Amino acid sequence: MTHVATIDLTAIRKDFPILNQEVNGHPLVYFDNAASSQKPKAVIQALVDYYSNDHANIHRGLHTLAERATSGYENVRRQAQTFINASEPEEIIFTRGTTESINLVAQAYGRKVLKEGDEIILSEMEHHSNIVPWQMVADEKGVIIKVIPVSDSGELILEEYETLLSEKTKIVALNYISNSLGTINPVREIIEMAHQADAKILIDAAQAAPHLKIDVQALDADFLALSSHKMYGPTGVGVLYGKRELLEFMDPYQGGGEMIKDVHFSGTTYNDIPYKFEAGTPNIADVVAFGSAIKFVEEIGHETIQTHENELLERAMEGLSRIEGFNPVGIASNKASVISFTIEGIHSYDLGMWLDARGIAVRTGHHCTQPLMDRMGLEGTIRASFAVYNTLEEVDYFVDSLCKIIKKFAK
Ligand code: PMP
Repeated sequence: MTHVATIDLTAIRKDFPILNQEVNGHPLVYFDNAASSQKPKAVIQALVDYYSNDHANIHRGLHTLAERATSGYENVRRQAQTFINASEPEEIIFTRGTTESINLVAQAYGRKVLKEGDEIILSEMEHHSNIVPWQMVADEKGVIIKVIPVSDSGELILEEYETLLSEKTKIVALNYISNSLGTINPVREIIEMAHQADAKILIDAAQAAPHLKIDVQALDADFLALSSHKMYGPTGVGVLYGKRELLEFMDPYQGGGEMIKDVHFSGTTYNDIPYKFEAGTPNIADVVAFGSAIKFVEEIGHETIQTHENELLERAMEGLSRIEGFNPVGIASNKASVISFTIEGIHSYDLGMWLDARGIAVRTGHHCTQPLMDRMGLEGTIRASFAVYNTLEEVDYFVDSLCKIIKKFAK
Protein backbone atom coordinates (compact mmCIF):
# COMPACT_ATOMS: atom_id res chain seq x y z
CA MET A 1 0.00 0.00 0.00
CA THR A 2 1.28 3.46 -0.85
CA HIS A 3 1.47 5.90 2.00
CA VAL A 4 -0.87 8.87 1.70
CA ALA A 5 0.33 11.91 3.63
CA THR A 6 -2.09 13.37 6.15
CA ILE A 7 -3.21 16.84 5.44
CA ASP A 8 -2.27 19.88 7.55
CA LEU A 9 -5.58 21.71 7.29
CA THR A 10 -4.64 24.53 9.64
CA ALA A 11 -1.66 25.41 7.47
CA ILE A 12 -3.64 25.02 4.26
CA ARG A 13 -6.50 27.21 5.44
CA LYS A 14 -4.05 29.94 6.52
CA ASP A 15 -2.85 29.93 2.95
CA PHE A 16 -6.28 31.08 1.66
CA PRO A 17 -6.94 34.63 2.94
CA ILE A 18 -10.50 34.70 1.56
CA LEU A 19 -11.60 31.89 3.88
CA ASN A 20 -10.88 34.00 6.93
CA GLN A 21 -14.05 36.10 6.88
CA GLU A 22 -17.61 36.15 8.09
CA VAL A 23 -20.55 36.14 5.73
CA ASN A 24 -23.90 37.23 7.15
CA GLY A 25 -22.48 36.99 10.65
CA HIS A 26 -21.14 33.44 10.27
CA PRO A 27 -17.69 32.11 9.33
CA LEU A 28 -17.63 31.58 5.57
CA VAL A 29 -18.12 27.95 4.49
CA TYR A 30 -17.21 27.80 0.83
CA PHE A 31 -18.76 24.76 -0.87
CA ASP A 32 -18.95 26.14 -4.41
CA ASN A 33 -15.61 24.79 -5.50
CA ALA A 34 -16.85 23.03 -8.63
CA ALA A 35 -17.81 26.46 -9.98
CA SER A 36 -14.48 28.03 -8.99
CA SER A 37 -12.04 27.35 -6.20
CA GLN A 38 -10.31 29.95 -3.99
CA LYS A 39 -6.67 31.01 -4.39
CA PRO A 40 -3.70 30.38 -2.10
CA LYS A 41 -1.34 33.23 -1.18
CA ALA A 42 1.33 31.90 -3.55
CA VAL A 43 -0.99 32.44 -6.54
CA ILE A 44 -2.03 35.92 -5.41
CA GLN A 45 1.60 36.84 -4.69
CA ALA A 46 2.73 35.54 -8.10
CA LEU A 47 0.43 38.09 -9.75
CA VAL A 48 1.75 40.92 -7.56
CA ASP A 49 5.37 39.84 -8.14
CA TYR A 50 4.94 39.53 -11.87
CA TYR A 51 3.44 43.00 -12.28
CA SER A 52 5.82 44.51 -9.69
CA ASN A 53 9.01 43.11 -11.21
CA ASP A 54 8.80 41.28 -14.51
CA HIS A 55 6.09 42.52 -16.83
CA ALA A 56 6.75 43.09 -20.53
CA ASN A 57 5.30 41.62 -23.69
CA ILE A 58 6.65 38.18 -24.45
CA HIS A 59 8.46 36.40 -27.28
CA ARG A 60 9.32 39.48 -29.36
CA GLY A 61 11.48 41.53 -27.03
CA LEU A 62 15.23 41.23 -26.64
CA HIS A 63 15.44 43.27 -23.46
CA THR A 64 15.77 41.80 -19.99
CA LEU A 65 12.18 42.23 -18.84
CA ALA A 66 10.85 40.71 -22.07
CA GLU A 67 13.13 37.73 -21.52
CA ARG A 68 12.05 37.38 -17.90
CA ALA A 69 8.37 37.52 -18.80
CA THR A 70 8.87 35.07 -21.65
CA SER A 71 10.71 32.54 -19.52
CA GLY A 72 8.08 32.91 -16.76
CA TYR A 73 5.34 32.14 -19.28
CA GLU A 74 7.17 29.32 -21.05
CA ASN A 75 8.23 27.67 -17.78
CA VAL A 76 4.56 27.26 -16.93
CA ARG A 77 4.01 25.53 -20.27
CA ARG A 78 6.56 22.94 -19.13
CA GLN A 79 4.92 22.73 -15.69
CA ALA A 80 1.54 22.11 -17.37
CA GLN A 81 3.18 19.49 -19.59
CA THR A 82 4.45 17.62 -16.54
CA PHE A 83 1.15 18.14 -14.70
CA ILE A 84 -0.79 16.15 -17.30
CA ASN A 85 2.19 14.11 -18.53
CA ALA A 86 2.15 15.36 -22.11
CA SER A 87 5.17 14.21 -24.07
CA GLU A 88 6.31 17.69 -25.12
CA PRO A 89 5.63 21.32 -24.17
CA GLU A 90 4.52 22.13 -27.74
CA GLU A 91 1.42 20.04 -27.08
CA ILE A 92 0.25 22.56 -24.44
CA ILE A 93 -1.78 25.50 -25.76
CA PHE A 94 -2.77 28.27 -23.35
CA THR A 95 -6.36 29.40 -23.74
CA ARG A 96 -8.86 31.39 -21.64
CA GLY A 97 -10.25 28.21 -20.12
CA THR A 98 -11.95 24.90 -20.84
CA THR A 99 -14.67 26.62 -22.86
CA GLU A 100 -12.19 28.23 -25.22
CA SER A 101 -10.16 25.00 -25.45
CA ILE A 102 -13.25 23.09 -26.59
CA ASN A 103 -14.28 25.82 -29.04
CA LEU A 104 -10.77 25.76 -30.45
CA VAL A 105 -10.98 22.03 -31.18
CA ALA A 106 -14.53 22.28 -32.54
CA GLN A 107 -13.54 25.07 -34.93
CA ALA A 108 -9.96 24.22 -35.86
CA TYR A 109 -10.29 20.42 -35.94
CA GLY A 110 -14.05 19.82 -36.25
CA ARG A 111 -14.66 22.21 -39.11
CA LYS A 112 -11.68 20.80 -40.99
CA VAL A 113 -12.58 17.11 -40.81
CA LEU A 114 -16.37 16.94 -40.48
CA LYS A 115 -18.56 16.32 -43.51
CA GLU A 116 -22.30 15.99 -43.97
CA GLY A 117 -23.61 12.78 -42.46
CA ASP A 118 -20.68 12.36 -40.02
CA GLU A 119 -21.45 11.86 -36.36
CA ILE A 120 -20.22 13.35 -33.09
CA ILE A 121 -20.87 11.53 -29.81
CA LEU A 122 -21.42 13.51 -26.61
CA SER A 123 -22.98 12.40 -23.34
CA GLU A 124 -26.13 13.38 -21.52
CA MET A 125 -24.05 14.69 -18.59
CA GLU A 126 -21.99 17.25 -20.53
CA HIS A 127 -21.54 20.85 -19.47
CA HIS A 128 -23.03 23.31 -21.99
CA SER A 129 -19.50 24.23 -23.00
CA ASN A 130 -19.02 20.68 -24.29
CA ILE A 131 -22.33 20.72 -26.16
CA VAL A 132 -22.88 24.12 -27.78
CA PRO A 133 -19.53 24.39 -29.64
CA TRP A 134 -20.29 21.01 -31.23
CA GLN A 135 -23.86 22.02 -32.09
CA MET A 136 -22.49 25.10 -33.85
CA VAL A 137 -20.17 23.01 -36.04
CA ALA A 138 -22.77 20.29 -36.52
CA ASP A 139 -25.36 22.83 -37.77
CA GLU A 140 -22.91 24.29 -40.21
CA LYS A 141 -21.68 20.96 -41.56
CA GLY A 142 -24.81 18.82 -41.46
CA VAL A 143 -23.34 16.57 -38.82
CA ILE A 144 -25.44 14.46 -36.45
CA ILE A 145 -24.92 14.56 -32.69
CA LYS A 146 -25.53 11.30 -30.83
CA VAL A 147 -25.79 11.20 -27.06
CA ILE A 148 -24.61 8.55 -24.56
CA PRO A 149 -27.42 8.14 -22.04
CA VAL A 150 -26.99 8.36 -18.28
CA SER A 151 -28.45 5.82 -15.83
CA ASP A 152 -30.65 6.72 -12.85
CA SER A 153 -27.58 6.51 -10.62
CA GLY A 154 -25.76 9.05 -12.81
CA GLU A 155 -23.42 6.75 -14.71
CA LEU A 156 -22.83 6.53 -18.44
CA ILE A 157 -24.45 3.49 -20.04
CA LEU A 158 -21.45 2.09 -21.88
CA GLU A 159 -23.40 -0.60 -23.74
CA GLU A 160 -25.35 2.22 -25.38
CA TYR A 161 -22.11 4.04 -26.18
CA GLU A 162 -20.88 0.92 -27.93
CA THR A 163 -23.97 0.81 -30.15
CA LEU A 164 -23.61 4.52 -31.05
CA LEU A 165 -20.03 4.11 -32.28
CA SER A 166 -19.66 3.43 -36.01
CA GLU A 167 -17.51 4.35 -38.99
CA LYS A 168 -19.57 7.57 -39.13
CA THR A 169 -18.27 8.65 -35.69
CA LYS A 170 -15.52 11.20 -36.16
CA ILE A 171 -15.35 12.84 -32.74
CA VAL A 172 -16.29 11.83 -29.20
CA ALA A 173 -16.30 14.58 -26.55
CA LEU A 174 -16.87 13.76 -22.93
CA ASN A 175 -16.20 14.98 -19.43
CA TYR A 176 -13.81 13.15 -17.10
CA ILE A 177 -15.80 14.15 -14.00
CA SER A 178 -19.35 15.49 -14.16
CA ASN A 179 -19.70 18.91 -12.53
CA SER A 180 -23.35 18.23 -11.66
CA LEU A 181 -23.14 14.63 -10.45
CA GLY A 182 -19.53 14.14 -9.42
CA THR A 183 -19.41 10.91 -11.45
CA ILE A 184 -15.87 9.93 -12.45
CA ASN A 185 -16.23 8.44 -15.91
CA PRO A 186 -14.17 5.42 -17.04
CA VAL A 187 -12.39 7.56 -19.61
CA ARG A 188 -9.58 5.12 -20.39
CA GLU A 189 -12.10 2.53 -21.57
CA ILE A 190 -14.18 5.15 -23.38
CA ILE A 191 -11.11 6.45 -25.23
CA GLU A 192 -10.09 2.96 -26.26
CA MET A 193 -13.56 2.29 -27.65
CA ALA A 194 -13.49 5.58 -29.61
CA HIS A 195 -10.12 4.68 -31.08
CA GLN A 196 -11.34 1.25 -32.11
CA ALA A 197 -13.96 3.10 -34.17
CA ASP A 198 -11.23 5.37 -35.59
CA ALA A 199 -12.72 8.43 -33.89
CA LYS A 200 -10.79 11.15 -32.10
CA ILE A 201 -11.70 12.02 -28.54
CA LEU A 202 -11.66 15.17 -26.46
CA ILE A 203 -11.71 14.89 -22.68
CA ASP A 204 -13.17 17.81 -20.73
CA ALA A 205 -11.03 17.63 -17.59
CA ALA A 206 -12.28 20.89 -16.01
CA GLN A 207 -13.46 19.03 -12.91
CA ALA A 208 -10.79 16.34 -12.95
CA ALA A 209 -7.73 18.61 -12.78
CA PRO A 210 -8.12 19.62 -9.09
CA HIS A 211 -9.05 16.13 -7.90
CA LEU A 212 -7.06 13.45 -9.68
CA LYS A 213 -3.79 12.87 -11.47
CA ILE A 214 -4.26 13.27 -15.22
CA ASP A 215 -1.97 11.34 -17.54
CA VAL A 216 -2.77 12.11 -21.17
CA GLN A 217 -0.29 9.51 -22.44
CA ALA A 218 -1.64 6.69 -20.28
CA LEU A 219 -5.17 7.72 -21.26
CA ASP A 220 -4.17 8.11 -24.91
CA ALA A 221 -6.42 11.20 -25.10
CA ASP A 222 -6.33 13.07 -28.41
CA PHE A 223 -7.38 16.36 -26.83
CA LEU A 224 -7.86 17.39 -23.22
CA ALA A 225 -9.15 20.68 -21.81
CA LEU A 226 -8.88 22.21 -18.33
CA SER A 227 -9.30 25.54 -16.50
CA SER A 228 -6.84 27.09 -14.07
CA HIS A 229 -9.53 28.71 -11.90
CA LYS A 230 -10.99 25.35 -10.85
CA MET A 231 -7.61 24.18 -9.55
CA TYR A 232 -6.69 27.11 -7.27
CA GLY A 233 -5.28 29.23 -10.11
CA PRO A 234 -6.42 32.55 -11.58
CA THR A 235 -9.37 33.00 -13.92
CA GLY A 236 -8.78 33.61 -17.60
CA VAL A 237 -6.33 30.74 -18.17
CA GLY A 238 -6.90 27.27 -19.48
CA VAL A 239 -5.01 24.52 -21.21
CA LEU A 240 -5.72 22.67 -24.37
CA TYR A 241 -3.64 19.55 -24.77
CA GLY A 242 -3.52 18.02 -28.23
CA LYS A 243 -1.37 15.31 -29.75
CA ARG A 244 1.34 16.90 -31.90
CA GLU A 245 0.18 15.39 -35.20
CA LEU A 246 -3.38 16.63 -34.63
CA LEU A 247 -2.31 20.15 -33.66
CA GLU A 248 -0.04 20.32 -36.69
CA PHE A 249 -2.85 19.13 -38.95
CA MET A 250 -5.28 21.76 -37.63
CA ASP A 251 -5.68 25.22 -39.10
CA PRO A 252 -5.32 28.24 -36.80
CA TYR A 253 -8.27 29.20 -34.63
CA GLN A 254 -7.71 32.96 -34.60
CA GLY A 255 -5.48 35.17 -36.72
CA GLY A 256 -3.18 37.92 -35.44
CA GLY A 257 0.27 38.55 -34.07
CA GLU A 258 2.33 35.71 -32.57
CA MET A 259 0.60 33.00 -34.61
CA ILE A 260 2.44 33.85 -37.84
CA LYS A 261 5.90 33.37 -39.32
CA ASP A 262 5.60 35.89 -42.18
CA VAL A 263 2.82 38.20 -43.24
CA HIS A 264 2.64 39.78 -46.71
CA PHE A 265 -0.31 40.80 -48.80
CA SER A 266 0.84 38.13 -51.23
CA GLY A 267 0.38 35.48 -48.51
CA THR A 268 0.94 34.59 -44.85
CA THR A 269 2.68 31.62 -43.29
CA TYR A 270 1.69 30.37 -39.87
CA ASN A 271 3.86 29.78 -36.84
CA ASP A 272 4.66 26.33 -35.41
CA ILE A 273 2.67 24.81 -32.57
CA PRO A 274 1.88 25.90 -29.89
CA TYR A 275 2.16 29.53 -31.10
CA LYS A 276 -0.06 28.88 -34.10
CA PHE A 277 -2.96 28.76 -31.62
CA GLU A 278 -1.95 31.67 -29.38
CA ALA A 279 -2.81 34.75 -31.42
CA GLY A 280 -2.20 38.14 -29.83
CA THR A 281 -0.72 39.05 -26.46
CA PRO A 282 -1.65 36.22 -24.13
CA ASN A 283 -2.72 36.41 -20.51
CA ILE A 284 0.90 36.40 -19.34
CA ALA A 285 0.38 37.32 -15.67
CA ASP A 286 -2.33 34.75 -15.06
CA VAL A 287 -0.37 32.03 -16.83
CA VAL A 288 2.61 32.80 -14.58
CA ALA A 289 0.36 32.59 -11.49
CA PHE A 290 -1.19 29.38 -12.83
CA GLY A 291 2.32 27.94 -12.41
CA SER A 292 2.02 28.59 -8.67
CA ALA A 293 -1.35 26.82 -8.61
CA ILE A 294 0.14 23.75 -10.30
CA LYS A 295 2.94 23.78 -7.72
CA PHE A 296 0.39 24.09 -4.90
CA VAL A 297 -1.55 21.02 -6.09
CA GLU A 298 1.58 19.00 -6.78
CA GLU A 299 3.13 19.78 -3.40
CA ILE A 300 0.09 18.47 -1.54
CA GLY A 301 -0.38 15.68 -4.07
CA HIS A 302 -3.52 14.43 -5.78
CA GLU A 303 -3.65 11.30 -3.65
CA THR A 304 -3.68 13.30 -0.42
CA ILE A 305 -6.26 15.70 -1.85
CA GLN A 306 -8.49 12.84 -2.95
CA THR A 307 -8.26 11.01 0.37
CA HIS A 308 -9.26 14.15 2.25
CA GLU A 309 -12.08 15.04 -0.13
CA ASN A 310 -13.45 11.49 0.00
CA GLU A 311 -13.60 11.78 3.76
CA LEU A 312 -15.62 14.99 3.42
CA LEU A 313 -17.88 13.35 0.87
CA GLU A 314 -18.57 10.33 3.08
CA ARG A 315 -19.27 12.46 6.13
CA ALA A 316 -21.66 14.69 4.17
CA MET A 317 -23.50 11.74 2.63
CA GLU A 318 -23.84 10.10 6.05
CA GLY A 319 -25.40 13.25 7.53
CA LEU A 320 -27.55 14.19 4.56
CA SER A 321 -28.94 10.66 4.17
CA ARG A 322 -30.56 10.99 7.60
CA ILE A 323 -32.57 14.02 6.44
CA GLU A 324 -36.15 13.25 5.47
CA GLY A 325 -36.87 14.17 1.86
CA PHE A 326 -33.17 14.17 0.90
CA ASN A 327 -32.87 13.06 -2.71
CA PRO A 328 -29.29 12.65 -3.95
CA VAL A 329 -28.84 13.20 -7.67
CA GLY A 330 -25.93 11.08 -8.86
CA ILE A 331 -24.87 8.15 -6.72
CA ALA A 332 -22.19 6.63 -8.95
CA SER A 333 -19.85 4.17 -7.27
CA ASN A 334 -16.83 6.16 -8.47
CA LYS A 335 -17.46 9.74 -7.43
CA ALA A 336 -15.59 12.97 -6.78
CA SER A 337 -16.44 15.34 -3.94
CA VAL A 338 -19.58 16.82 -5.48
CA ILE A 339 -23.01 16.28 -3.94
CA SER A 340 -26.08 17.28 -5.92
CA PHE A 341 -29.44 16.92 -4.25
CA THR A 342 -32.96 18.16 -3.83
CA ILE A 343 -35.09 18.31 -0.70
CA GLU A 344 -38.69 17.30 -1.18
CA GLY A 345 -41.11 20.19 -0.94
CA ILE A 346 -38.51 22.97 -0.78
CA HIS A 347 -37.21 24.83 -3.81
CA SER A 348 -33.44 24.70 -4.30
CA TYR A 349 -33.21 28.50 -4.60
CA ASP A 350 -34.88 28.97 -1.22
CA LEU A 351 -32.48 26.52 0.38
CA GLY A 352 -29.51 28.20 -1.29
CA MET A 353 -30.58 31.58 0.09
CA TRP A 354 -31.14 30.26 3.60
CA LEU A 355 -27.78 28.51 3.56
CA ASP A 356 -26.15 31.78 2.47
CA ALA A 357 -27.78 33.50 5.43
CA ARG A 358 -25.75 31.04 7.55
CA GLY A 359 -22.52 31.81 5.68
CA ILE A 360 -22.61 28.70 3.50
CA ALA A 361 -21.94 29.09 -0.23
CA VAL A 362 -23.48 26.36 -2.37
CA ARG A 363 -24.65 26.45 -5.96
CA THR A 364 -28.26 26.05 -7.00
CA GLY A 365 -29.73 25.62 -10.47
CA HIS A 366 -28.95 23.54 -13.53
CA HIS A 367 -25.15 23.93 -13.28
CA CYS A 368 -24.89 24.53 -17.06
CA THR A 369 -26.13 20.99 -17.66
CA GLN A 370 -29.74 21.46 -18.75
CA PRO A 371 -29.88 18.25 -20.84
CA LEU A 372 -28.86 16.30 -17.72
CA MET A 373 -31.54 18.05 -15.65
CA ASP A 374 -34.08 17.15 -18.38
CA ARG A 375 -32.93 13.52 -18.13
CA MET A 376 -33.31 13.54 -14.35
CA GLY A 377 -36.68 15.30 -14.59
CA LEU A 378 -35.44 18.23 -12.52
CA GLU A 379 -35.21 21.97 -12.97
CA GLY A 380 -32.11 22.10 -10.88
CA THR A 381 -30.36 20.87 -7.74
CA ILE A 382 -28.40 22.17 -4.79
CA ARG A 383 -24.74 21.36 -5.24
CA ALA A 384 -22.13 21.26 -2.50
CA SER A 385 -18.63 20.68 -3.82
CA PHE A 386 -15.56 20.31 -1.64
CA ALA A 387 -11.95 21.37 -2.01
CA VAL A 388 -8.73 20.60 -0.19
CA TYR A 389 -9.27 23.40 2.39
CA ASN A 390 -12.73 22.26 3.54
CA THR A 391 -13.11 20.60 6.93
CA LEU A 392 -15.28 17.95 8.57
CA GLU A 393 -16.54 20.65 10.97
CA GLU A 394 -17.77 22.66 8.01
CA VAL A 395 -19.56 19.59 6.66
CA ASP A 396 -21.23 19.02 10.05
CA TYR A 397 -22.27 22.68 10.25
CA PHE A 398 -23.73 22.42 6.73
CA VAL A 399 -25.78 19.31 7.57
CA ASP A 400 -26.94 20.83 10.84
CA SER A 401 -27.89 24.11 9.13
CA LEU A 402 -29.84 22.25 6.49
CA CYS A 403 -31.79 20.36 9.19
CA LYS A 404 -32.67 23.63 10.93
CA ILE A 405 -33.74 25.32 7.69
CA ILE A 406 -35.93 22.35 6.73
CA LYS A 407 -37.58 22.35 10.17
CA LYS A 408 -38.38 26.03 9.76
CA PHE A 409 -39.96 25.36 6.36
CA ALA A 410 -41.97 22.41 7.73
CA LYS A 411 -43.69 24.63 10.28
N1 PMP B 1 -16.74 21.58 -18.27
C1 PMP B 1 -17.05 21.29 -17.01
C2 PMP B 1 -17.26 19.87 -16.60
C3 PMP B 1 -17.17 22.34 -16.08
O1 PMP B 1 -17.48 22.06 -14.82
C4 PMP B 1 -16.95 23.67 -16.51
C5 PMP B 1 -17.10 24.83 -15.54
N2 PMP B 1 -18.24 24.77 -14.73
C6 PMP B 1 -16.61 23.90 -17.83
C7 PMP B 1 -16.51 22.83 -18.68
C8 PMP B 1 -16.36 25.28 -18.34
O2 PMP B 1 -15.21 25.79 -17.77
P1 PMP B 1 -14.81 27.34 -17.93
O3 PMP B 1 -16.03 28.12 -17.59
O4 PMP B 1 -13.69 27.53 -16.99
O5 PMP B 1 -14.41 27.53 -19.36
